[in-house]
Amino acid sequence: MSLPFSLFAKELDRIQRTKGHSAKKAIVALMLRDRQDAETVLALLLPHLDQRVLQIKDKVLARIYVDALGIEGTTSAARLLDWRNPAFITSGLGDPALSTVDFAQSLYSVIRDRISSLSLQSQPLTVRDNSLDRKTIISFFVANLNPTEHKWLSRIILKEMKLGITEKTVFDAWHKEAQDLYNITSSLSRVAKDLIDPNVSVISNSSVSLNFPFKPMLAKSVKSLDSVEKLRQGKAFWIETKLDGERMQLHKSGSNYKWFSRNAKDYTNLYGAYKDQKLARHIHVAFLPTVDTCVLDGEMMSFNVSTSLFESFGNLKTAANLFNADGETATSKPVYIAFDILLYNNKSLLESPLRDRRKLLSMILKDSKGRIEILSYAEGNTTEDVVKALDSSMMRREEGIVVKNPDSDYLLNDRAGEWLKVKPDYIDSLGDDLDLVLVGGFFGSGYRSGKLSHFMCAVIDDSSPPDQRRYITFCKFGSGYKEDQIEEISHESEGHWQAYDHVNPPAWFIHPPTSKERPNMIIHPSHARVVTVKAAEVVESTQYGSGYTLRFPRFVTVRQDKDVGDGLSKTELEEYIHNNEGR
Ligand code: ATP
Repeated sequence: MSLPFSLFAKELDRIQRTKGHSAKKAIVALMLRDRQDAETVLALLLPHLDQRVLQIKDKVLARIYVDALGIEGTTSAARLLDWRNPAFITSGLGDPALSTVDFAQSLYSVIRDRISSLSLQSQPLTVRDNSLDRKTIISFFVANLNPTEHKWLSRIILKEMKLGITEKTVFDAWHKEAQDLYNITSSLSRVAKDLIDPNVSVISNSSVSLNFPFKPMLAKSVKSLDSVEKLRQGKAFWIETKLDGERMQLHKSGSNYKWFSRNAKDYTNLYGAYKDQKLARHIHVAFLPTVDTCVLDGEMMSFNVSTSLFESFGNLKTAANLFNADGETATSKPVYIAFDILLYNNKSLLESPLRDRRKLLSMILKDSKGRIEILSYAEGNTTEDVVKALDSSMMRREEGIVVKNPDSDYLLNDRAGEWLKVKPDYIDSLGDDLDLVLVGGFFGSGYRSGKLSHFMCAVIDDSSPPDQRRYITFCKFGSGYKEDQIEEISHESEGHWQAYDHVNPPAWFIHPPTSKERPNMIIHPSHARVVTVKAAEVVESTQYGSGYTLRFPRFVTVRQDKDVGDGLSKTELEEYIHNNEGR
């Protein structure tokens, strides 16, 4: 239920009159008890922190009231306009709790004296400065509020509550982390919404508490590839896959588990609270028996059993529900990918370097395929290492990479740059989509063996006669998230794929025989499709017939509306390279 303003004003009076910090704080805590209203109550108690409140000085407010009350030229008007004048500070006017009088008290006594004789409609509306809107609002209040309410309304407007309590007391009455969260976020709304449960902790600068969510360390995006090397100044960095699931922290306390998202949302019901429940059942057995308590940071992913691919974030809850209902027969299931450990047997690890945390993680947790896995990393030193890693992450149909400083502490709620996220989208790129002819396919490995998972594209050799068209290889891409479209192409063209014999390739297929990029299957373009591929840039390459290839190629779509002849030709590619030189 929301708190009526009349009651709110009375409570404010009570706080002001009450002596002692803890007694005042107790009243504030009671006012905030109706937690649905907390954001509004906090904003009204701390109006100086609420950006929405009007910026009005007491002089202007006095004018507006004089107009709205229709008391121009009277002693009452003078009392408002010149309220600091000692002549108006009489004993009956002041609030006994305050040693001095403020505008609000002057207003209180003026309104109390005049309330019975108000007749608003008869007052001419004069436009002064730009105060028409404010005046209309105040007029509404004049007609509807009592003197006490006016006193508090004006204090809210003037952002000076004079309650005799500090901002910190108000925050503390709400939640022990309220002040800290406000300092980090500058948002009363976040303070009200994120800290709704007094037992839930969302931030802590020095420690992570078992069973309380914390704000995880975040990655900063980089705009240029060489910024990674610059940042580490030649020292080694770690490269990990950028996972596209949901950031999830796992708190283990003996046989009990708690799961929280990045925003402190509790997912324990979905992933299991006890060692014999849901995903927790499979995770419990992956820990060494010596692990009593621990807190892990990682990403919850949804794994599609039939495509053997991780699905995008949107599928996560469906996957978890399917798995909870159907168990092993579910088509999708949740997999927890751990990449950090922050607490182990009640000892905080925040100040241990990442290198040590990861070593410990791999010692206490056994990878359990499809249940809980530890994210792998590669070490890098140079920009070239970043380029290669990003290229292969594109080939693995991923979003990008995260680069980490292995010497850094775990910094809660921090995005200062010890972790960097690198996505082709962030990098200055050509930004153009190229329509290319599909000519080859590569089989996947593992679960995808026997199925095409990567494709090779070509440009049209427009110097060849149309009835004996040749196609010059140009690039390779991973099938991306539009898996079903690729399945469709492979399916559609079934019967037309032929094994690639690099010793005796068909005349139409122009590809260096020495190339390491050897497709398993090729398809004559008359049976294939034009596909749109996005990339960061065109670079020289000895691996493709054209002498060029794409950097960070990503599959965009199948051009159902285009014929093979509409694909990019060699001449167009050369023009394109020429036009983009120096870009
Ligand atoms: P952000 O989460 O950085 O505010 P965002 O919500 O737009 O940005 P993305 O840019 O897609 O999301 O980044 C997803 C987030 O996933 C990263 O910020 C990071 O917190 C997390 N993430 C994914 N992979 C990793 C990883 N290997 N290590 C650490 N964090 C990761």
